Amino acid sequence: MTDARRGLILINTGPGKGKTTAAMGTALRAVGNGMRVLMLQFLKGSWHYGELDAVEAFGGKWVMKQMGRGFVKIGGAETDPEDIRMVEAAWDEARQAILSGDWDMIVLDEINYAISYNMLDPTRVVETLRQKPEMVHVILTGRNAHPSLVEIADTVTEMREVKHAYQKGILAQRGIEY
Ligand code: ATP
Ligand code: MG
Repeated sequence: MTDARRGLILINTGPGKGKTTAAMGTALRAVGNGMRVLMLQFLKGSWHYGELDAVEAFGGKWVMKQMGRGFVKIGGAETDPEDIRMVEAAWDEARQAILSGDWDMIVLDEINYAISYNMLDPTRVVETLRQKPEMVHVILTGRNAHPSLVEIADTVTEMREVKHAYQKGILAQRGIEY
């Protein structure tokens, strides 16, 4: 055990609900401690999530950006080049933000999906995380976290689905899903 302060790498993965919202809970906690948080949302874009408006209240202390279009056709050859371009741009910004030291916490929301859809090479992410400034916290979300990322992470949580309203045919609800 050590009481030294250091930045951590966290992963919220697994099939159950709560990966993104748990990351936002951690971000809220960090902002309350005077930290600055950048949350970049890979692939997301078409839905308007309540959190996008809520973080405005925090000014520049908690910035959230949607970096995608919200609908991605998966499967190697079928992947739209435009989606790949957007993932590339999101990763560029993420990488610069991590290395800049301008942020105390960076949330890479849904980045695990971009990796598992073969839109982003996990070795690039691992390389950048290895170079991150000591004190920066990074949270990665999305199902199917790549084993190489799980390996370098400090805290990994797998959400397990016990049941989900969707299975009863209940569609996404305001305030719960968006
Ligand atoms: P949330 O954003 O609510 O924390 P999440 O980040 O864990 O969810 P994602 O994989 O990003 O989940 O999927 C986002 C959307 O899919 C959310 O609207 C969420 O409610 C829904 N969802 C998550 N898990 C399930 C599931 N097991 N069955 C059906 N829908 C799900
Ligand atoms: Mg999510």
